[in-house]
Amino acid sequence: MELSRRITGLTGGGSDGWDVYYRAREMVAEGKPVIELTIGEHDIGTDRRILDAMHAATLRGHTGYSMFHGNTNLREAVARRVTEQTGTPTSPDNVLVVPGGQAGLFATHHAACDEGDTALYIDPYYATYPGTIRGVGARAKAIAARPERVFQPDPADIAAAAPGASSLLINTPNNPTGVIYTEETLQGIARVCQEHDLWLISDEVYDTMVWRGRHVSPRTLPGMESRTLVVGSMSKSHAMTGSRIGWVIGPEEAIFHMGTLATHTTYGVAGFVQEAAVFALGQGDAFEAEIAAPFRRRRDLALEMLEGQTAARPIPADGGMYVLIDIRATGLSGEAFALRLLEEHLVAVMPGESFGQAAAGHVRVALTVEDERLTAALGLLIELATELAA
Ligand code: PMP
Repeated sequence: MELSRRITGLTGGGSDGWDVYYRAREMVAEGKPVIELTIGEHDIGTDRRILDAMHAATLRGHTGYSMFHGNTNLREAVARRVTEQTGTPTSPDNVLVVPGGQAGLFATHHAACDEGDTALYIDPYYATYPGTIRGVGARAKAIAARPERVFQPDPADIAAAAPGASSLLINTPNNPTGVIYTEETLQGIARVCQEHDLWLISDEVYDTMVWRGRHVSPRTLPGMESRTLVVGSMSKSHAMTGSRIGWVIGPEEAIFHMGTLATHTTYGVAGFVQEAAVFALGQGDAFEAEIAAPFRRRRDLALEMLEGQTAARPIPADGGMYVLIDIRATGLSGEAFALRLLEEHLVAVMPGESFGQAAAGHVRVALTVEDERLTAALGLLIELATELAA
């Protein structure tokens, strides 16, 4: 039987960019001591207090169907948080609860794009972006953010691609680059969205991991509230990746219709997970800072080690869980370098090419192992890059 092109074409054909990751997993299964710095998974599990709250919620009876848009107490807690953090008044009707940021990316593109519409996104990008866009029947069009601009997108490039498009997807703090978009960049983006009548889909799942500068949510910029859909998640901020819990913030009408989409897809998020999320959000900023602290420390360690290196040059890493490293001086692609690092030194990092063409010749290091293993791995990476560049 023939399957739909929509589903067989999700990854766009060819490699999905995860070959190094799969190879590392195989090697681990064979018993090899690989240091895995590939995906964005915390090295701690979900906090015991959150798990206790989840368990208590099951015993209180939160095991049946829940509200499709999300339970009122969680929508209220998210609305309060967004209002406090951004200063833009946000009500529970502006909040849709979704099973993770990924589901939010899908729902927002469903809301913004009709079949065949063009959806813009910035390269380098989080690996699922083009597939998510294709998954709603839209055409994915990448706009490069160049290394020469330290991966800040140029609003002029977006304006050139914008005529006829329906939406633009951005991500700050950014995965994989670690770059935080400046207010100037965001103002330029906001101008283009207004001039070309684009929905702005703003992926802010790393908003609690800011090491330098300030995270600005573009929804707060003049004229943007009515056309911005913000994707948030508790995966990174609360180390709750497996609980699948996040949200979309947007205008009431958009949220209402995305709730209808939830009725026809996910049928809502588990009630006990929502209760645990309310508890976790109630722990406040100090708890979130505690979750983020190891990444800040390891980011500092990594940048210190990489400072002054010419064969492995770090991109500044102002936020998020990763450090992107420019290895173009080695003459290898990110993929070829990552494969050699894996086979010869048992260190697994993600090739920049896994995140598009703009980060070719770079590798992304996830700061997700304890400090000593991270510094040992970085030492091996620097050694290999230096040897190849010589
Ligand atoms: N956006 C970005 C930029 C990400 O890095 C991730 C996860 N790695 C997600 C969205 C999705 O995360 P989740 O579905 O776990 O919230």
